[in-house]
Amino acid sequence: MPAKYHTAEEALRTVFGFHEFRGHQAEVIAQVIGGGDAVVLMPTGGGKSLCYQIPALVREGTAVVISPLIALMQDQVNALTTLGIAAGYLNSTQSPDQRSQMERAFLAGELDLLYIAPERLSQPGTRSLLERVPIALFAIDEAHCVAQWGHDFRPDYLQLSVLADLWPDVPRVALTATATEATHTEITERLRLGDAKHFVSSFDRPNITYRIEPKDSVSKQLVSFIRREHAGDAGIVYALSRASTEKIADHLSSQGIPAVAYHAGLDPSTRHAAQARFLAEDGLVVVATIAFGMGIDKPDVRFVAHVDLPKSIEGYYQETGRAGRDQAPATAWMAYGLNDVVQQRRMIAESVGDEAHKRRLTAHLNSMLALCETVECRRVNMLSYFGESSDPCGNCDTCLDPPRSWDGTQASQKLLSTIVRLDRERRQHFGAGRLIDILRGNPTDAVHRWSHDSLSTWGIGADLTEAQWRSVVRQLLARGDMALSTDGHSTLGVTEQGWDVLRGNRTVPLREDVVRRAGSAGSRSSRGTAGTSTTGLAHAGTDAPEGSSDGSSEAVDALFESLRSWRLGQARERGVPPYVVFHDSTLRAIAARRPSSLDELSTISGVGAAKLAAYGESVLAVLSGDEHRVDPDEDEPAEHSEN
Ligand code: ADP
Ligand code: ZN
Repeated sequence: MPAKYHTAEEALRTVFGFHEFRGHQAEVIAQVIGGGDAVVLMPTGGGKSLCYQIPALVREGTAVVISPLIALMQDQVNALTTLGIAAGYLNSTQSPDQRSQMERAFLAGELDLLYIAPERLSQPGTRSLLERVPIALFAIDEAHCVAQWGHDFRPDYLQLSVLADLWPDVPRVALTATATEATHTEITERLRLGDAKHFVSSFDRPNITYRIEPKDSVSKQLVSFIRREHAGDAGIVYALSRASTEKIADHLSSQGIPAVAYHAGLDPSTRHAAQARFLAEDGLVVVATIAFGMGIDKPDVRFVAHVDLPKSIEGYYQETGRAGRDQAPATAWMAYGLNDVVQQRRMIAESVGDEAHKRRLTAHLNSMLALCETVECRRVNMLSYFGESSDPCGNCDTCLDPPRSWDGTQASQKLLSTIVRLDRERRQHFGAGRLIDILRGNPTDAVHRWSHDSLSTWGIGADLTEAQWRSVVRQLLARGDMALSTDGHSTLGVTEQGWDVLRGNRTVPLREDVVRRAGSAGSRSSRGTAGTSTTGLAHAGTDAPEGSSDGSSEAVDALFESLRSWRLGQARERGVPPYVVFHDSTLRAIAARRPSSLDELSTISGVGAAKLAAYGESVLAVLSGDEHRVDPDEDEPAEHSEN
């Protein structure tokens, strides 16, 4: 029989080794243990799993977790098993034998939690199976999949409303990391959660530093960003096309940064292998299209990079949210440039669909561009997009390094009048490249062929560099109220506002672009020692460890590295990802505290009873610098002398 616990606190401490609940966890758990329904909106990394795992350990019966992420069920079950929780799953990846074995365990009441895919619920066999055993609760994970207009819609989620009829007395908890009001409403209605309590958390992720820089040579910028701030760390790089994921992965590998590509065009076994490596290794970079990442609960992804402009803030926030689930410092980095704007505007112009659809896409893109060009706090901008008001965060590039602005009115007038003259005098329309050549007086073949050197604006913009001109064009295109427009052919036109600028009725303050190059000053390491934490969330390793004999930061770092390599050995031996053994944050706390007994070790967050029994002695051996001390045949740990 699975162990049951009397209180939520007892389960939290004993099973998970955590000392306190986070955010709304305690309230959600109390609601579900009390038999009520709940709708939980919590950002990625907020700790949704505990909201149903703890009630599963306290309520009578087996908790049924409905999840669309079939490929990850095995990992989730493995992680629970190492915590001493009896969990299993039923899905199409199992052999009939494995399935019937699992069904037997379930019918015998041996399971605390059973994970199933939503499509199984419509099979009569599954329903009658579930009816034969007391159900502790239903957890509907990734509940936004029920939202028909959302991007992750799964038709099978619609029929989950029958749970309300078939099991009226079993509490249901729906969980999602999607923040919009529309999705929230759809979840409540379609899953028939009219009587549920709602728990809406702040969607802020204070441990993530947001940075957006102008695109120059993006592969080089990416390499220097990783080297400077995240050498040896796990990360995800998002790119728009399959081809560019492969190109970038090759480039990173050639620069000594272990990386693999991941996209929908790869065959399933290659994709699966990439994902498995990402979970199993400490410092792999996956370069992916958006197909990668949903449900990946690797807690120690230290950075998410975008080398192409995302289509909406919603998508961007979801993708960057995959960094730093463990609450330790992480970075969301993006490089963005003029071509991104032109390309995305063109994609919208060429997209199939009615005008209303195109207007929606344009609105999404404009919000994303406003985020890129803002001179104010990035976080304030994003949170307000989700309807949350906040103060400047102190942990994004614009807060840390306020951008300088310059008066771009004259430059804008030069550009706009060039466009107007070409149109009026010659009925010609061009993209940014040619316009900049004309402004800078750059005598290319094309310029001669078209006699652009006879234009009155020829060479009047030689005072700005090509990069500066691209920045002007980009900003005029990106800001909603600005002077330039582009159609489906990448050529530029002057808007109403543009005419105001030409007439001198409107000034144009522009942001000064700063491209950071390798080794340039002002870089910030989320791992380094100086001035890293502006959020008060510094990990244990950088705080001065109290009461530690050798608390120097180097000693703690060295110990942390020894613990990390010990952990890798344990993970390989057991065939689980390293973070399933212990999280980085737990290892850091161990390195800082240097516990000298099992009792002391058990007080560290993340060390529960099962892990203490499985790894405790071995950890103490690493700390005493004598990893071979533990003899598995001995009952008592060997004595060790202080020296
Ligand atoms: P979500 O599903 O909301 O993205 P998870 O449930 O995966 O988040 O939790 C994120 C991380 O935070 C996990 O590694 C989990 O172990 C850890 N965690 C959750 N709740 C607590 C807590 N109360 N104390 C310490 N760590 C926690
Ligand atoms: Zn900020």
